[in-house]
Amino acid sequence: MPRSLYWPYKISGFCQITTLGAHLWLAHGKLYALASWQLFNAGRQLLMPIPLVANPVYSYPFPAQHRFPMEKFALLQDYVASQGWLVNNPFYRPGKASLALLELAHCPNYLRRFIHNQQSAAEIKAMGLPWSEELVRRTLISPNGTLLTALLALEKGVACHLAGGTHHAHANFASGFCILNDLAVAALALIKQRKVKRVLIFDCDVHQGDGTARILEHNPAIFTCSIHCAENFPSEKAQSNLDIALPRGTQTPAYLRALRTTLEQAIRLSQPDIVLYDAGVDIYAGDPLGHFAISEEGIFARDLFVLNTCKSLGIPVATVIGGGYDDNRQALAARHGLIIKAAISVFSSLGAHP
Ligand SMILES: [Zn+2]
Repeated sequence: MPRSLYWPYKISGFCQITTLGAHLWLAHGKLYALASWQLFNAGRQLLMPIPLVANPVYSYPFPAQHRFPMEKFALLQDYVASQGWLVNNPFYRPGKASLALLELAHCPNYLRRFIHNQQSAAEIKAMGLPWSEELVRRTLISPNGTLLTALLALEKGVACHLAGGTHHAHANFASGFCILNDLAVAALALIKQRKVKRVLIFDCDVHQGDGTARILEHNPAIFTCSIHCAENFPSEKAQSNLDIALPRGTQTPAYLRALRTTLEQAIRLSQPDIVLYDAGVDIYAGDPLGHFAISEEGIFARDLFVLNTCKSLGIPVATVIGGGYDDNRQALAARHGLIIKAAISVFSSLGAHP
């Protein structure tokens, strides 16, 4: 006997069943639907899957009192699972990047010194993270994760990396918790592999993407755009192709107005074949390193606008999570989950399209 589904079982399931022509009938004054479990599962396939990219080693045992929330990557993966987002969306686990790939954006000497713990004390202080074998392992995977996310976005229209956005990393030194610049590595690899002709890196982390801007400043195929807080790290800003520096205390309405005009300008100027979107949540009002006053609804509205714009123009978009800090690590993981929620909402065929 087929397994019966009784309305209201689940609104989305009901809609799918009706599109598949399942039986509806009235009995005992109630409306019932009957479909085989196979039909129900076939209906679920109508949901457009959003590729999700992460590796379990992104988080590793780390000093709990350290300002950098290393456990947020594992907590985000747990949060994504808890929301049921792994049911319809495929999960990809990237491996270690080759040195040849990393050398597209970084000096071989710097890579060697980082990997073998040969940096000076001053360099490690600027890095902001204690060196360990586990740090090296996760750091060598993450740029590959962003590249994989971009390749999946080219294929599917959108893909989300549950890490990435280490935009302060320069060609030959680490800075502000950023060691390797995944955005620069991925963009340069996409161009070198002739996957695309033009890339837009749209960076909405509250801090300026100075490393990205410097590494790519002479590359006409890659357009860098950063919307950030003027009075925040790094104290000495680099020059992106388009920089929008907003004042300390910027609130949600003003932020969203700047976002709209800036994204439209960046796309018009760069005519990209793909957008790499840094959805940093350190713009949040409660973020200790942020200095903006953006609500969580504002962050979600930002993400929806960026993804809806890309979708409506047919431009593939790969997302990275960027920065976010909060002593409440669960709340932080949920905040980083907003970009995944937005991607599902915008790109899923059954999702809302605000
Ligand atoms: Zn940041």
